[in-house]
Amino acid sequence: MLVAGSANADFVVRAAHIPAPGETVMGGDLSIVPGGKGANQAVAAARAGGCCTTMLLALGDDASGAILERSLSDAGVEARVVRSARATGAALITVSDTAENAITVAPGANATLLPEHLPDLAGIDWLVLQLETPIATVTAYAQAARAAGVKVMLNVAPAQAVPDALLSAVDVLVANEEELAVLVGSDGSILDRLSRLPVPLGIVTLGARGSCALAGGDAIFQPAFLVQAIDTTAAGDTFCGALAAALAQGAAPEDALRSASAAAALATTAAGAQASIPTQADVARLLA
Ligand code: ADP
Repeated sequence: MLVAGSANADFVVRAAHIPAPGETVMGGDLSIVPGGKGANQAVAAARAGGCCTTMLLALGDDASGAILERSLSDAGVEARVVRSARATGAALITVSDTAENAITVAPGANATLLPEHLPDLAGIDWLVLQLETPIATVTAYAQAARAAGVKVMLNVAPAQAVPDALLSAVDVLVANEEELAVLVGSDGSILDRLSRLPVPLGIVTLGARGSCALAGGDAIFQPAFLVQAIDTTAAGDTFCGALAAALAQGAAPEDALRSASAAAALATTAAGAQASIPTQADVARLLA
């Protein structure tokens, strides 16, 4: 499996509340942790047993890039790094005592991932994409994968409009409610809206309410696993990575949704992004 996308160093500070415009808030200690939707999903796929998970990403020649490479290699992901003259991507995250967050992303090197960086797809069965790298690049990768007979999963996050040229090259689309609204509006039931997407398998994640899918006309509802959630960072990414790993191993959509939900639920029980992503053994225990 190849995950192509973003990697960010997350600069996280806890504070009593999110600062209002013009306000300065004193917070706790700074933690710098590996994140970014692409890298989180690659780690989630590898921990879910996704065979030979490779990630294509662009990093700066700096300390954040080194942290991100180490995190991928510790998780068993083979990194194909495009070295950029720009700084490694960064996310500035304030988390409040009420578990709300405010995030500003500096894309940096992620913005320099280009169509010509896609490696030869021989031996790749699945390509996993998100929208934190330029949309022209994501579209070119999806089209190249489709032409090579490689299955494409697209997580349409962060929310933005998606060109038809990209949508028509997608086999599995994963959106949360806000992202689905940007794609197809908010009129009608979730299943009605999923049916408007021109993809064989469309999935909406609904936070603590679970997830819902339309698989070739069949509706699937997967409730969330009941856990003590303390930090939902990377829940959606864990869901996507675990889903891709399960589908790549030949799981039926309902079984893939179940293991993705279990992995995502466990990710909410620990703080951080990549640090909170569970292993296959943890997920198997929850599913037993
Ligand atoms: P995103 O973070 O991308 O908006 P969601 O909040 O929809 O994604 O979460 C993705 C998935 O993570 C959900 O479909 C669900 O399976 C799981 N999840 C999220 N929050 C919880 C929670 N509080 N308890 C259990 N599972 C959760």
